[in-house]
Amino acid sequence: MINLCFNIVNMDHLTAQQRHKNMAAIHSKDTKPEMIVRKGLWSRGFRYRLNYKRLPGHPDLVLRKYRTCIFVNGCFWHGHLVALPQMSDGRSKMEDVIENSSCCKIPKTNREFWVAKIRRNQERDKEEQRKLAAMGWHCITVWECELKPSKREATLDSLAFSLNHLFLQDRKRVKMYQQVDENAGMLRAAETVESFNSKK
Ligand SMILES: [Zn+2]
Repeated sequence: MINLCFNIVNMDHLTAQQRHKNMAAIHSKDTKPEMIVRKGLWSRGFRYRLNYKRLPGHPDLVLRKYRTCIFVNGCFWHGHLVALPQMSDGRSKMEDVIENSSCCKIPKTNREFWVAKIRRNQERDKEEQRKLAAMGWHCITVWECELKPSKREATLDSLAFSLNHLFLQDRKRVKMYQQVDENAGMLRAAETVESFNSKK
């Protein structure tokens, strides 16, 4: 992970070919952050499906029982904590409007390209999660920087806690609906008895 961030920070010093190779490696499936989340959840007793193609955004992990999709996002590609405002305030230099975060620094060369790419990714992420929410799925994003060794266990623990919390919340909601249904059923039964009695 630390290596990954290091590569991104130093990308300006790489040749185009090296950069391409680096990016391809970082962007490949079964990346290390994803493996950490998989192993962490598995060892905590959670079971999941991987890269579920039928759902918008092909979530990295899908936990049906918890009605939850998990995305493990690279901080650079998905622009973690980086503000990419549109340049509509009269300032002409892109450097003036970008606020890098500690885990996502936009390379100085080809800046327009990277900004456009990362912004597109951010917008796509939002749109996919909106679709999933409309389908009744919870979405959790785990960021690569939250998985570095010093934070890893705490992140995985809180992920497990969130999943259990969501599960209980959903069950409570289902119970509430059942209760409302039962009450409505009882009311209907009472009305039937009443109308039967009034006809006698
Ligand atoms: Zn990050």
